[in-house]
Amino acid sequence: MSLEEYKGVFIFAQQVDNELSSIALELLGKAKDLANDLDEKKVTAVLLGSDVKGLVDKLAEYGADRVIVVDDPALKDYRTEPYTHALTSVINEYKPEILLVGATAIGRDLGPRVSSRVHTGLTADCTSLEIGDFPLEPSPARETKHKQLLMTRPAFGGNTIATIACPDFRPQMATVRPGVMQKIDPIKGAKAEVVEFNPGFEENNCYTEIVKIVKEASSVADIQAAKILVSGGRGVGSAENFKILDDLAEALNGTVSCSRAVVDSGWKPKDLQVGQTGKTVRPQLYFAIGISGAIQHVAGMEESDIIIAINKDENAPIFDVADYGVVGDLNKIVPALTKSIKEALASKN
Ligand SMILES: Cc1cc2nc3c(=O)[nH]c(=O)nc-3n(C[C@H](O)[C@H](O)[C@H](O)COP(=O)(O)OP(=O)(O)OC[C@H]3O[C@@H](n4cnc5c(N)ncnc54)[C@H](O)[C@@H]3O)c2cc1C
Repeated sequence: MSLEEYKGVFIFAQQVDNELSSIALELLGKAKDLANDLDEKKVTAVLLGSDVKGLVDKLAEYGADRVIVVDDPALKDYRTEPYTHALTSVINEYKPEILLVGATAIGRDLGPRVSSRVHTGLTADCTSLEIGDFPLEPSPARETKHKQLLMTRPAFGGNTIATIACPDFRPQMATVRPGVMQKIDPIKGAKAEVVEFNPGFEENNCYTEIVKIVKEASSVADIQAAKILVSGGRGVGSAENFKILDDLAEALNGTVSCSRAVVDSGWKPKDLQVGQTGKTVRPQLYFAIGISGAIQHVAGMEESDIIIAINKDENAPIFDVADYGVVGDLNKIVPALTKSIKEALASKN
Protein backbone atom coordinates (compact mmCIF):
# COMPACT_ATOMS: atom_id res chain seq x y z
CA MET A 1 0.00 0.00 0.00
CA SER A 2 1.48 3.34 -1.02
CA LEU A 3 0.19 5.76 1.61
CA GLU A 4 0.93 8.84 -0.52
CA GLU A 5 -1.75 7.82 -3.02
CA TYR A 6 -4.42 8.35 -0.38
CA LYS A 7 -5.68 11.93 -0.24
CA GLY A 8 -8.61 13.88 1.14
CA VAL A 9 -11.15 13.65 3.92
CA PHE A 10 -14.30 11.65 3.12
CA ILE A 11 -17.47 11.09 5.12
CA PHE A 12 -20.18 8.48 4.66
CA ALA A 13 -23.37 10.51 4.19
CA GLN A 14 -25.94 8.25 5.80
CA GLN A 15 -29.49 8.62 4.54
CA VAL A 16 -32.57 6.65 5.49
CA ASP A 17 -35.75 6.84 3.38
CA ASN A 18 -34.08 9.57 1.29
CA GLU A 19 -33.55 11.78 4.30
CA LEU A 20 -30.05 12.66 5.42
CA SER A 21 -29.26 11.60 8.96
CA SER A 22 -28.06 14.41 11.22
CA ILE A 23 -24.77 12.55 11.73
CA ALA A 24 -23.87 13.09 8.05
CA LEU A 25 -23.98 16.86 8.58
CA GLU A 26 -22.10 16.62 11.88
CA LEU A 27 -19.32 14.60 10.21
CA LEU A 28 -19.03 17.21 7.47
CA GLY A 29 -18.41 19.88 10.14
CA LYS A 30 -15.55 17.84 11.60
CA ALA A 31 -14.21 16.86 8.18
CA LYS A 32 -13.82 20.56 7.30
CA ASP A 33 -11.58 21.12 10.35
CA LEU A 34 -9.49 18.04 9.57
CA ALA A 35 -9.14 19.02 5.91
CA ASN A 36 -7.92 22.50 6.93
CA ASP A 37 -5.34 20.99 9.27
CA LEU A 38 -4.13 18.74 6.45
CA ASP A 39 -4.02 21.66 3.97
CA GLU A 40 -6.53 19.74 1.87
CA LYS A 41 -8.92 21.75 -0.24
CA LYS A 42 -11.81 19.33 -0.47
CA VAL A 43 -14.20 17.47 1.77
CA THR A 44 -15.97 14.63 -0.01
CA ALA A 45 -19.29 13.08 1.00
CA VAL A 46 -20.09 9.56 -0.20
CA LEU A 47 -23.83 9.24 -0.77
CA LEU A 48 -25.23 5.75 -1.31
CA GLY A 49 -28.88 4.99 -2.03
CA SER A 50 -31.58 4.82 -4.65
CA ASP A 51 -32.88 8.05 -6.15
CA VAL A 52 -30.85 10.13 -3.72
CA LYS A 53 -29.34 12.82 -5.94
CA GLY A 54 -31.78 15.34 -4.49
CA LEU A 55 -29.77 15.27 -1.26
CA VAL A 56 -26.58 16.63 -2.81
CA ASP A 57 -27.38 20.32 -2.30
CA LYS A 58 -27.99 19.88 1.40
CA LEU A 59 -24.61 18.16 1.75
CA ALA A 60 -23.03 21.10 -0.09
CA GLU A 61 -24.71 23.59 2.24
CA TYR A 62 -23.22 21.77 5.21
CA GLY A 63 -19.67 21.70 3.85
CA ALA A 64 -19.26 19.03 1.15
CA ASP A 65 -17.11 20.28 -1.74
CA ARG A 66 -17.63 17.08 -3.70
CA VAL A 67 -20.29 14.37 -3.47
CA ILE A 68 -19.64 10.90 -4.86
CA VAL A 69 -23.06 9.39 -5.53
CA VAL A 70 -23.69 5.70 -5.98
CA ASP A 71 -27.33 5.56 -7.01
CA ASP A 72 -28.74 2.10 -7.59
CA PRO A 73 -31.98 0.25 -6.73
CA ALA A 74 -29.84 -2.31 -4.89
CA LEU A 75 -29.14 0.44 -2.32
CA LYS A 76 -32.75 1.46 -1.68
CA ASP A 77 -32.88 0.18 1.90
CA TYR A 78 -29.76 -0.48 3.95
CA ARG A 79 -28.44 -3.96 3.40
CA THR A 80 -24.99 -4.97 4.54
CA GLU A 81 -23.61 -6.52 1.38
CA PRO A 82 -24.47 -4.00 -1.35
CA TYR A 83 -23.57 -1.04 0.88
CA THR A 84 -20.26 -2.67 1.83
CA HIS A 85 -19.54 -3.36 -1.84
CA ALA A 86 -20.40 0.23 -2.81
CA LEU A 87 -18.33 1.94 -0.12
CA THR A 88 -15.38 -0.43 -0.56
CA SER A 89 -15.42 0.26 -4.31
CA VAL A 90 -15.48 4.03 -3.72
CA ILE A 91 -12.43 3.72 -1.43
CA ASN A 92 -10.54 1.57 -3.92
CA GLU A 93 -11.29 4.04 -6.72
CA TYR A 94 -10.87 7.41 -4.96
CA LYS A 95 -8.40 6.48 -2.17
CA PRO A 96 -9.30 8.77 0.74
CA GLU A 97 -6.76 9.49 3.43
CA ILE A 98 -9.49 9.66 6.08
CA LEU A 99 -13.01 8.21 6.11
CA LEU A 100 -15.50 9.09 8.85
CA VAL A 101 -18.66 7.06 9.44
CA GLY A 102 -21.46 7.68 11.97
CA ALA A 103 -21.59 5.28 14.91
CA THR A 104 -25.25 4.59 14.16
CA ALA A 105 -26.77 1.13 13.80
CA ILE A 106 -25.98 1.33 10.06
CA GLY A 107 -22.48 2.77 10.53
CA ARG A 108 -21.56 0.23 13.16
CA ASP A 109 -22.48 -2.54 10.75
CA LEU A 110 -20.93 -0.99 7.67
CA GLY A 111 -17.71 0.60 8.98
CA PRO A 112 -15.92 -2.49 10.30
CA ARG A 113 -16.82 -4.59 7.25
CA VAL A 114 -15.49 -1.96 4.88
CA SER A 115 -12.30 -1.45 6.90
CA SER A 116 -11.70 -5.19 6.85
CA ARG A 117 -12.22 -5.41 3.08
CA VAL A 118 -9.80 -2.58 2.34
CA HIS A 119 -7.40 -3.89 4.96
CA THR A 120 -7.12 -0.93 7.29
CA GLY A 121 -7.94 -0.18 10.91
CA LEU A 122 -11.06 1.45 12.35
CA THR A 123 -11.45 3.21 15.69
CA ALA A 124 -15.03 2.92 16.87
CA ASP A 125 -17.08 5.42 18.85
CA CYS A 126 -14.65 8.33 18.78
CA THR A 127 -15.38 11.37 20.91
CA SER A 128 -12.58 13.54 19.51
CA LEU A 129 -10.59 13.63 16.26
CA GLU A 130 -7.59 15.76 15.43
CA ILE A 131 -4.51 15.87 13.24
CA GLY A 132 -1.14 15.51 14.97
CA ASP A 133 2.08 13.60 15.44
CA PHE A 134 2.16 9.91 16.31
CA PRO A 135 3.42 8.66 18.71
CA LEU A 136 2.15 11.49 20.86
CA GLU A 137 5.41 11.53 22.86
CA PRO A 138 8.48 11.32 20.59
CA SER A 139 10.39 8.11 21.21
CA PRO A 140 13.83 7.14 19.87
CA ALA A 141 12.50 3.61 19.39
CA ARG A 142 9.81 4.71 16.98
CA GLU A 143 9.72 7.01 13.96
CA THR A 144 7.43 10.02 14.49
CA LYS A 145 4.83 10.30 11.76
CA HIS A 146 3.31 13.71 11.16
CA LYS A 147 -0.22 14.72 10.25
CA GLN A 148 -1.86 11.53 11.43
CA LEU A 149 -5.50 11.23 12.42
CA LEU A 150 -5.51 11.00 16.22
CA MET A 151 -8.71 9.24 17.23
CA THR A 152 -9.76 9.52 20.86
CA ARG A 153 -12.35 7.36 22.57
CA PRO A 154 -13.22 6.13 26.05
CA ALA A 155 -11.74 2.70 26.80
CA PHE A 156 -12.00 0.07 29.53
CA GLY A 157 -15.60 0.87 30.39
CA GLY A 158 -14.99 4.60 30.27
CA ASN A 159 -12.32 4.47 32.96
CA THR A 160 -9.63 5.78 30.66
CA ILE A 161 -9.35 7.74 27.44
CA ALA A 162 -7.32 6.21 24.61
CA THR A 163 -5.87 8.04 21.60
CA ILE A 164 -5.41 5.70 18.67
CA ALA A 165 -3.73 6.21 15.29
CA CYS A 166 -3.42 4.15 12.13
CA PRO A 167 -0.02 5.23 10.77
CA ASP A 168 0.69 2.30 8.42
CA PHE A 169 -2.57 1.82 6.53
CA ARG A 170 -5.08 3.95 4.66
CA PRO A 171 -7.73 5.19 4.84
CA GLN A 172 -7.65 6.10 8.52
CA MET A 173 -11.19 5.15 9.54
CA ALA A 174 -13.26 6.24 12.54
CA THR A 175 -16.85 5.98 13.61
CA VAL A 176 -18.22 8.93 15.58
CA ARG A 177 -21.25 8.95 17.85
CA PRO A 178 -24.18 11.16 16.85
CA GLY A 179 -24.28 14.45 18.76
CA VAL A 180 -20.53 14.66 19.40
CA MET A 181 -19.38 16.79 16.44
CA GLN A 182 -20.90 20.11 15.42
CA LYS A 183 -22.51 20.97 12.10
CA ILE A 184 -21.42 24.19 10.46
CA ASP A 185 -24.00 26.92 9.91
CA PRO A 186 -25.46 26.03 6.49
CA ILE A 187 -24.15 28.06 3.56
CA LYS A 188 -27.32 28.77 1.58
CA GLY A 189 -26.99 28.11 -2.13
CA ALA A 190 -23.60 26.33 -1.83
CA LYS A 191 -22.95 23.81 -4.60
CA ALA A 192 -20.78 20.71 -4.68
CA GLU A 193 -19.06 18.91 -7.52
CA VAL A 194 -21.07 15.76 -8.19
CA VAL A 195 -19.37 12.55 -9.28
CA GLU A 196 -21.56 9.62 -10.22
CA PHE A 197 -19.93 6.27 -9.66
CA ASN A 198 -21.42 2.87 -10.09
CA PRO A 199 -19.38 -0.19 -9.19
CA GLY A 200 -22.08 -2.57 -10.51
CA PHE A 201 -24.06 -4.83 -8.28
CA GLU A 202 -24.30 -8.58 -8.66
CA GLU A 203 -26.85 -10.29 -6.48
CA ASN A 204 -25.23 -13.12 -4.56
CA ASN A 205 -26.14 -15.22 -1.58
CA CYS A 206 -24.94 -12.47 0.77
CA TYR A 207 -27.66 -10.13 -0.52
CA THR A 208 -30.43 -10.40 2.02
CA GLU A 209 -33.99 -9.99 0.84
CA ILE A 210 -35.97 -7.46 2.86
CA VAL A 211 -39.42 -8.89 3.28
CA LYS A 212 -40.93 -6.15 5.41
CA ILE A 213 -39.75 -3.12 7.35
CA VAL A 214 -41.57 -2.51 10.61
CA LYS A 215 -40.78 0.86 12.14
CA GLU A 216 -40.83 1.31 15.88
CA ALA A 217 -43.37 3.95 16.79
CA SER A 218 -41.48 5.98 19.34
CA SER A 219 -43.48 8.00 21.81
CA VAL A 220 -40.30 9.13 23.53
CA ALA A 221 -38.88 12.64 23.08
CA ASP A 222 -35.71 13.15 21.04
CA ILE A 223 -33.30 14.29 23.75
CA GLN A 224 -30.56 15.05 21.22
CA ALA A 225 -32.74 17.71 19.61
CA ALA A 226 -33.80 19.36 22.90
CA LYS A 227 -32.46 22.81 23.77
CA ILE A 228 -33.22 22.39 27.48
CA LEU A 229 -32.81 19.06 29.26
CA VAL A 230 -33.97 18.38 32.81
CA SER A 231 -32.04 15.24 33.67
CA GLY A 232 -32.69 13.14 36.74
CA GLY A 233 -30.60 10.51 38.48
CA ARG A 234 -30.98 7.89 41.17
CA GLY A 235 -31.31 10.70 43.71
CA VAL A 236 -34.79 11.44 42.37
CA GLY A 237 -35.79 8.33 44.30
CA SER A 238 -38.62 6.81 42.25
CA ALA A 239 -40.40 6.84 38.91
CA GLU A 240 -43.29 8.73 40.51
CA ASN A 241 -41.02 11.44 41.89
CA PHE A 242 -39.93 12.31 38.33
CA LYS A 243 -43.18 14.32 38.35
CA ILE A 244 -41.25 17.23 39.93
CA LEU A 245 -38.79 17.11 37.01
CA ASP A 246 -41.66 16.92 34.52
CA ASP A 247 -43.09 20.09 36.07
CA LEU A 248 -39.76 21.92 35.80
CA ALA A 249 -39.32 20.76 32.20
CA GLU A 250 -42.83 21.91 31.34
CA ALA A 251 -42.24 25.36 32.89
CA LEU A 252 -39.08 25.74 30.81
CA ASN A 253 -40.41 24.10 27.66
CA GLY A 254 -37.70 21.50 28.09
CA THR A 255 -37.42 17.72 27.93
CA VAL A 256 -36.73 15.17 30.66
CA SER A 257 -33.72 12.86 30.35
CA CYS A 258 -31.91 10.67 32.86
CA SER A 259 -28.85 8.74 33.99
CA ARG A 260 -28.30 5.05 33.46
CA ALA A 261 -29.13 4.27 37.09
CA VAL A 262 -32.66 5.51 36.34
CA VAL A 263 -32.96 3.29 33.26
CA ASP A 264 -31.56 0.29 35.16
CA SER A 265 -34.19 0.90 37.87
CA GLY A 266 -36.91 0.79 35.22
CA TRP A 267 -38.04 4.36 35.94
CA LYS A 268 -37.43 5.69 32.41
CA PRO A 269 -36.87 4.15 28.96
CA LYS A 270 -33.36 3.71 27.55
CA ASP A 271 -34.02 6.32 24.83
CA LEU A 272 -33.84 9.01 27.51
CA GLN A 273 -30.46 7.91 28.87
CA VAL A 274 -27.56 10.36 28.61
CA GLY A 275 -24.00 9.09 28.61
CA GLN A 276 -21.46 6.76 27.17
CA THR A 277 -23.91 3.93 26.63
CA GLY A 278 -26.81 6.32 26.16
CA LYS A 279 -26.98 9.42 24.00
CA THR A 280 -24.56 12.31 23.65
CA VAL A 281 -26.38 15.60 24.11
CA ARG A 282 -25.39 19.22 23.67
CA PRO A 283 -28.33 21.35 24.84
CA GLN A 284 -28.15 25.04 25.68
CA LEU A 285 -29.13 24.22 29.27
CA TYR A 286 -28.64 20.92 31.12
CA PHE A 287 -29.99 20.32 34.63
CA ALA A 288 -28.31 17.41 36.43
CA ILE A 289 -30.63 16.66 39.33
CA GLY A 290 -29.71 13.90 41.79
CA ILE A 291 -26.96 12.75 39.41
CA SER A 292 -23.54 12.07 40.95
CA GLY A 293 -21.52 12.84 37.80
CA ALA A 294 -19.90 9.49 37.00
CA ILE A 295 -17.41 9.71 34.10
CA GLN A 296 -19.72 7.66 31.87
CA HIS A 297 -22.56 10.13 32.42
CA VAL A 298 -20.40 13.23 32.03
CA ALA A 299 -19.05 11.89 28.70
CA GLY A 300 -22.52 12.35 27.27
CA MET A 301 -23.34 15.88 28.50
CA GLU A 302 -20.17 17.86 29.24
CA GLU A 303 -20.43 19.81 25.97
CA SER A 304 -23.74 21.37 27.06
CA ASP A 305 -23.59 25.18 26.98
CA ILE A 306 -24.68 25.67 30.60
CA ILE A 307 -24.83 22.93 33.25
CA ILE A 308 -26.76 23.39 36.50
CA ALA A 309 -26.30 20.66 39.12
CA ILE A 310 -28.57 20.08 42.11
CA ASN A 311 -27.19 17.56 44.59
CA LYS A 312 -27.26 17.11 48.35
CA ASP A 313 -23.62 16.01 48.40
CA GLU A 314 -21.33 19.02 47.99
CA ASN A 315 -18.47 16.68 46.97
CA ALA A 316 -20.41 15.06 44.11
CA PRO A 317 -18.20 15.05 40.97
CA ILE A 318 -21.01 16.62 38.93
CA PHE A 319 -20.05 19.96 40.51
CA ASP A 320 -16.66 19.72 38.74
CA VAL A 321 -18.34 20.12 35.35
CA ALA A 322 -21.27 22.32 36.44
CA ASP A 323 -21.38 26.05 35.69
CA TYR A 324 -23.82 26.56 38.58
CA GLY A 325 -24.35 24.27 41.55
CA VAL A 326 -27.01 24.09 44.23
CA VAL A 327 -26.26 21.92 47.28
CA GLY A 328 -29.40 20.66 48.92
CA ASP A 329 -32.42 18.37 48.77
CA LEU A 330 -33.85 18.21 45.26
CA ASN A 331 -37.32 17.58 46.70
CA LYS A 332 -37.29 21.11 48.10
CA ILE A 333 -35.17 22.90 45.49
CA VAL A 334 -36.82 21.67 42.29
CA PRO A 335 -40.45 22.56 43.18
CA ALA A 336 -39.27 25.96 44.50
CA LEU A 337 -37.37 26.59 41.26
CA THR A 338 -40.37 25.60 39.13
CA LYS A 339 -42.60 27.92 41.16
CA SER A 340 -40.20 30.89 40.75
CA ILE A 341 -39.86 30.28 37.01
CA LYS A 342 -43.63 30.13 36.58
CA GLU A 343 -44.08 33.32 38.59
CA ALA A 344 -41.37 35.10 36.62
CA LEU A 345 -42.93 34.03 33.32
CA ALA A 346 -46.43 35.03 34.50
CA SER A 347 -45.24 38.52 35.53
CA LYS A 348 -43.65 38.98 32.09
CA ASN A 349 -46.90 38.19 30.26
C1 LIG B 1 -19.46 0.63 30.79
C2 LIG B 1 -20.34 1.58 31.55
C3 LIG B 1 -21.16 2.43 30.84
C4 LIG B 1 -22.00 3.33 31.52
N1 LIG B 1 -22.78 4.18 30.79
C5 LIG B 1 -23.51 5.11 31.45
C6 LIG B 1 -24.29 6.06 30.72
O1 LIG B 1 -24.38 6.05 29.49
N2 LIG B 1 -24.98 6.97 31.44
C7 LIG B 1 -24.96 7.04 32.80
O2 LIG B 1 -25.61 7.92 33.38
N3 LIG B 1 -24.25 6.13 33.50
C8 LIG B 1 -23.55 5.17 32.86
N4 LIG B 1 -22.86 4.24 33.59
C9 LIG B 1 -23.10 4.17 35.06
C10 LIG B 1 -22.31 5.18 35.86
O3 LIG B 1 -21.04 4.67 36.18
C11 LIG B 1 -23.04 5.52 37.16
O4 LIG B 1 -23.26 4.34 37.89
C12 LIG B 1 -24.39 6.23 36.93
O5 LIG B 1 -24.22 7.32 36.08
C13 LIG B 1 -24.91 6.71 38.28
O6 LIG B 1 -26.17 7.31 38.09
P1 LIG B 1 -26.67 8.41 39.07
O7 LIG B 1 -25.71 9.56 39.10
O8 LIG B 1 -28.08 8.69 38.73
O9 LIG B 1 -26.70 7.64 40.47
P2 LIG B 1 -25.75 7.76 41.73
O10 LIG B 1 -24.32 7.65 41.36
O11 LIG B 1 -26.28 6.81 42.75
O12 LIG B 1 -25.96 9.25 42.25
C14 LIG B 1 -27.13 9.73 42.84
C15 LIG B 1 -26.84 11.14 43.31
O13 LIG B 1 -28.04 11.72 43.81
C16 LIG B 1 -27.71 12.50 44.94
N5 LIG B 1 -28.92 12.56 45.77
C17 LIG B 1 -29.56 11.56 46.41
N6 LIG B 1 -30.67 12.01 47.02
C18 LIG B 1 -30.74 13.35 46.76
C19 LIG B 1 -31.63 14.38 47.12
N7 LIG B 1 -32.73 14.11 47.87
N8 LIG B 1 -31.37 15.62 46.71
C20 LIG B 1 -30.28 15.92 45.96
N9 LIG B 1 -29.38 14.98 45.57
C21 LIG B 1 -29.61 13.71 45.96
C22 LIG B 1 -26.58 11.76 45.62
O14 LIG B 1 -25.80 12.64 46.42
C23 LIG B 1 -25.80 11.23 44.40
O15 LIG B 1 -24.76 12.13 44.02
C24 LIG B 1 -22.03 3.33 32.94
C25 LIG B 1 -21.20 2.47 33.65
C26 LIG B 1 -20.37 1.60 32.96
C27 LIG B 1 -19.47 0.67 33.76
